[in-house]
Amino acid sequence: MQKEVPTANKIKTDLHEILDIRHLTDSTFVMRIEKKDLEFEAGQHVCVGPPNGIHTREYSIYSAEQDDSLEILVKEVENGLVSPSLKKLKKGGYVVVEEPVGYFTINKDLPKDQEYVFIASGTGISPFHSFVISKPELNYTLLHGVREGEEAYEADTYEADRYVLCTSRDKTGKYNGRVTDYLKKNPFSKTAHYYLCGNCNMIHDVYDILEEQGVSTDNIHAEVYF
Ligand SMILES: Cc1cc2nc3c(=O)[nH]c(=O)nc-3n(C[C@H](O)[C@H](O)[C@H](O)COP(=O)(O)OP(=O)(O)OC[C@H]3O[C@@H](n4cnc5c(N)ncnc54)[C@H](O)[C@@H]3O)c2cc1C
Repeated sequence: MQKEVPTANKIKTDLHEILDIRHLTDSTFVMRIEKKDLEFEAGQHVCVGPPNGIHTREYSIYSAEQDDSLEILVKEVENGLVSPSLKKLKKGGYVVVEEPVGYFTINKDLPKDQEYVFIASGTGISPFHSFVISKPELNYTLLHGVREGEEAYEADTYEADRYVLCTSRDKTGKYNGRVTDYLKKNPFSKTAHYYLCGNCNMIHDVYDILEEQGVSTDNIHAEVYF
């Protein structure tokens, strides 16, 4: 009798052409790649890697569900294994892309006017970009924590009164300080759904603040990048 193949081996991997690259800062860029037959739900991620290597890394999908191509927002991590190799690739080259996976998605059973608070650090804004352009009717506020204003990646995507840029190292943001400080001073509704994405320190701190503010853990969703 034939043995069942382990699930991990069933994940579809394929080479996708790089259609375009937009450099947003010296270290951060949006890579637009062929979508082929991949379908995803906003908030999911794909594993991507250079065509000649064996390593891939997770990247949240930045583009909209309905777009014909797939975009990812990548920050090059100094001495990293995969992100510096991705940065060297050019339009017309190829990347390995695995099937979209993940549960950091909007619950379709929630009411249409549900309030959402999206809280990101750095490139953790990527799934929220996909939420907002996939579902323009969402009732959201987006808090984006960065060091400097130049990291407000494509901020004109968001309605100005829904986007709060928090800059910790310069004064170009709407708020000068960390997202955690903003949240402590400006609590949102206990019934809002909170989506947290980015580095684990920010996520732990925000989790604690929300619990202190009386938000149920059922209303808190998190995606940890590193
Ligand atoms: C579900 C998920 C979605 C993700 N989505 C994105 C995304 O949309 N965009 C994106 O740029 N990254 C994203 N990441 C992080 C990404 O998968 C890689 O970890 C990152 O690109 C570094 O990979 P590397 O191989 O270059 O570095 P590695 O060799 O794997 O790591 C080097 C070191 O850098 C640390 N590190 C990882 N990311 C960062 C960072 N951003 N800043 C500082 N240090 C870091 C790691 O903890 C490690 O210690 C996501 C991670 C997860 C788990």
